[in-house]
Amino acid sequence: MTASANLAALRDTGVWIFDLDNTLYPASCNLFAQVDRRITEFIAEHFGIPQPEARERQKRFFRDYGTTLRGLMTEHDVDPVAYMDYVHDIDVAGVQPSAVLAGALERLPGRKIIYTNGSVRHAENVAGRLGILDRFDAVFDIAAGGYVPKPDPRPYATLVERYGIDPTRACMVEDIARNLAPAHALGMTTVWVRGELEYERAGVGAGVHIDHTVDDLPGWLAAVADATADAVP
Ligand SMILES: [Mg+2]
Repeated sequence: MTASANLAALRDTGVWIFDLDNTLYPASCNLFAQVDRRITEFIAEHFGIPQPEARERQKRFFRDYGTTLRGLMTEHDVDPVAYMDYVHDIDVAGVQPSAVLAGALERLPGRKIIYTNGSVRHAENVAGRLGILDRFDAVFDIAAGGYVPKPDPRPYATLVERYGIDPTRACMVEDIARNLAPAHALGMTTVWVRGELEYERAGVGAGVHIDHTVDDLPGWLAAVADATADAVP
């Protein structure tokens, strides 16, 4: 199959599901690094402990529960709304509006949904800055998923049911490879936005099925939109 035929096969995609952080904007913006620091500060304040100790605790929660919030809720009954507001209080000026991404999303057929382990407010803040917020039909956030984070399969099932998604005609785009495993299990096409970090790469070539590996998401989506348009008789 040629590259464009490969992309044209995506023309039947009825729903595009996009992760937000380090997917719709590049990790080089260092935006998520700000969130990461805010999480450390939250833990330091909440427990009254020094930052290095808070950092250790954060890493343990992330490792044991998939997200720091899940660990804080499970072990310490932390209020998720207060946490989300605190950690997403960041400066998005480092994110550059992307005309290529906005144009590609405009031309791409199918519904588009943001699916994030963050909050709706964070998604609106970042997608607004990117100039793509109005390209999306919905944001499915950690609250919508009952505060159960990806890659637990349960919120994926909730997402599919809530939006009446046919998984065999859905495509999920993510930088954390292991978050694609439940999507593939449901029958979705999987797109990995190649990440450099260890936790982003975990599972690649070792159990996580990836249909498309992408380095430049705006460029790739533009190519998909072109291939899709070419494929229409
Ligand atoms: Mg991400």
